[in-house]
Amino acid sequence: MVFKIIFQSTSFAIPFFLTTVSLLIIHKFTTNYINQTWILFFMAFTIEDMATFCKAKSFVYPNSEIYGGFSGFFDLGALGSELNNNIKQAFWKTFVQGREDVVGIDGTIISHPKVWEASGHVGSFSDMLIYCSKHKKGLRADQIVEEVLDVRTDGLKADALLKLITENAEKFKVAGYELDDKISNFNLMFKTFIGPSQSDDSVAYLRPETAQLIFTNFKLIMDTARTRLPFGIAQVGKAFRNEISPRDFLFRCREFEQFEIEFFINPEEKKCALFKSPEKKFVVNILTEDCQKDDKPHYSISLGDMVNKKILGEWHAYWLKQYYQFFLEHGISPENLRLREHCKDELAHYSSACFDIEYKFPFGWKEIHGCANRGQFDLTQHIKHSKQNLEVFDENTQKKVVPRVIEPSQGVGRAMLTFLFEAYDDDKERGNIVLKLHPTLAPYKVGVFPLVNKLTDQARKIFDKLKVDSVCFFDKSGSIGRRYARADEIGIPYCITFDFESIDDKSVTIRDRDTTKQKRVKISRLQKILGDLLSGKTTFDKVK
Ligand code: ATP
Repeated sequence: MVFKIIFQSTSFAIPFFLTTVSLLIIHKFTTNYINQTWILFFMAFTIEDMATFCKAKSFVYPNSEIYGGFSGFFDLGALGSELNNNIKQAFWKTFVQGREDVVGIDGTIISHPKVWEASGHVGSFSDMLIYCSKHKKGLRADQIVEEVLDVRTDGLKADALLKLITENAEKFKVAGYELDDKISNFNLMFKTFIGPSQSDDSVAYLRPETAQLIFTNFKLIMDTARTRLPFGIAQVGKAFRNEISPRDFLFRCREFEQFEIEFFINPEEKKCALFKSPEKKFVVNILTEDCQKDDKPHYSISLGDMVNKKILGEWHAYWLKQYYQFFLEHGISPENLRLREHCKDELAHYSSACFDIEYKFPFGWKEIHGCANRGQFDLTQHIKHSKQNLEVFDENTQKKVVPRVIEPSQGVGRAMLTFLFEAYDDDKERGNIVLKLHPTLAPYKVGVFPLVNKLTDQARKIFDKLKVDSVCFFDKSGSIGRRYARADEIGIPYCITFDFESIDDKSVTIRDRDTTKQKRVKISRLQKILGDLLSGKTTFDKVK
């Protein structure tokens, strides 16, 4: 209606059109975030917008920007490093410290090259490369096919991709590609040399995943860390992959972090004692292999039914539930989350079944977590290559076994991107962005503001007290409304304002980010109230 009225008058239409176009141009070519709210009124929020937002708010910066950037590498800023640490801590607390059957390790980035020969990475950790004479470089074949033909390519081999490229040659031309008629395999591991000689004998690799050190240390850990089957070993840290075409901001980088668990089980133990009623009744969205073959959408099903239908085993279902639930509990909406079954022809060399947890990003449903049934592959390979006996004694069965493994593998950057997209709310009524991050993940937990500069000392006293328990943010510049908006934009869940009345009534105003509701509370109870709110013991409505 508004648009109709505006466009009935050409005197309005022309300036309106010009303003819109200039805003879009500003948005594309500057990193200035000021007009973002208005620009987003006209266009959907994209991954590029998220990168711009993250840079403007000190979450993530392009690496080596003063030298023109470095594709596939990103640096975390003041808020990004807090958020990243909070995500890792939440994983560690939930899956390591919160459990008696998982222990952590912290291994090296470079290890003996034989590790990677045994694991199969030297031989087959590769992506398909196709040369484009227009771009004058090799590109990732499956990504181009997905982009140009809008199809999923999971599991397609080089022949199938080449066929699609040949059959749709015109479309690729129109999209700006001039592709070769052959595809080669490109190994994704970064090579380096150990010591002063740079020969084949001194080649080593930066780890492409954190998992392998867990396998090589497995027996040592079992012998020394008082663990017994079934149990898991976790590791969080950097992984490096020489991705052919890094893209989509943090989604596909060349250096990133993973949080991986290898969970070791007696190979005879098909039933999972932990897969109880809540696990069985837990409902997930699932895109099965059949859905993908028949081009059908995902559907909802309980994990118990999935196991009964033999879509996956109990241990696998148990671990998928833990991570699916983790994302739900940390604020991800159920409609934006699903499991995707890997089709038989796309399974990695080590895996007999694999399910991804996918998130609905603006650029489509994409993997944020992979959970593979690795069977006995890795330990068997390391036994073969190291000639060591890695069998362990299972106290339950009183027999020696080579355990089988379920591997929940989580990218930290992709988790961060997921939480940021879910949290990002362009609140038109407030006129500012509200980053509705879960309090556990929010970089700052509490903002403390003096109403006017005169009250700075009193407000600071409160800030000094609160910062002992939580990461707090002190802000005294600009109007109180502007300070609330600034706090919203960086996701501070609660803000405290010290005003003139506070001097007499020994109380402050506490404001809830998500509802903007405010309550007056005694300063003496502030620490306890905030502690309860941030830990989820109470909700803002219940605060008295
Ligand atoms: P993709 O198919 O997207 O390349 P993958 O199946 O190779 O991913 P895995 O080897 O299963 O990924 O790695 C486990 C997790 O590590 C992924 O679910 C993802 O969260 C993260 N991850 C993998 N590769 C990257 C990357 N290049 N950049 C950022 N995160 C990554």
